[in-house]
Amino acid sequence: MVEKNNYFRSTLINNNIFTAFVLKKRLSFKNKDLTATAEKIKDFVSKQTGVLKSKLKIVFMGQTHSTNINFLNNSDDLNSEFTILPDTDAVVTNLVNTVLVIKTADCLPVLYTADKFIAVSHQGWLGSLANFAEKMILKLQLLGAKLDDIKISIGPHIADCCYSIDSDRASLFKLVYSNWQDLILRKFNKTFYLNLLRLNLLQYQKAGLNKNQIDYRLFCTSCDKRFCSYRRDKALNQQNLSLILKL
Ligand SMILES: [Zn+2]
Repeated sequence: MVEKNNYFRSTLINNNIFTAFVLKKRLSFKNKDLTATAEKIKDFVSKQTGVLKSKLKIVFMGQTHSTNINFLNNSDDLNSEFTILPDTDAVVTNLVNTVLVIKTADCLPVLYTADKFIAVSHQGWLGSLANFAEKMILKLQLLGAKLDDIKISIGPHIADCCYSIDSDRASLFKLVYSNWQDLILRKFNKTFYLNLLRLNLLQYQKAGLNKNQIDYRLFCTSCDKRFCSYRRDKALNQQNLSLILKL
């Protein structure tokens, strides 16, 4: 992953595909005005890729901490201004010029490419507990992608320095991931800290990905003020944007 003009780009997913984990000073999601946010995303993507704004379609997800995956293969289903897919936390598409958007403020944003497909998924603690990672890899394989052709890039999220969870939640992770509990949970001063990144890396590797198919950087949205953080800011009015687009 490398830093460009106020965004990080995957160095793994780069074959006719644009990826961006955007710093908040460049671009962020604001709930109050979706139309303006969609327009700003079009400006940003158009400037970075050269694709005309009028050709770009913007796709937001409802993001309800589900593990629901939406497959988009018909551009007629998309509005010219922007489209919101309700009750959706992942999208797979083979469409070009279609910007898949993840908004996060501590959760884990993941960008994918596999054969002719691109995809996004949003994994918070619930999605990670439910092994959304494996579900995404299986979905891509069901659509015909070969495991070897899948590449993923994991963006800025809260790291275990700051991601404290209560003991009830820690017990859930110990129960479901008993073999990995020492790897994903850390206890300090009677408080548990969850390592979302490591859990997801273990899940993707168990689903069949090799380390060289996964791109990530060690960010912490709560420590790193270039990003929005729900834990730090105690507000969700501004969120980080992660984008992927097939050119
Ligand atoms: Zn931190």
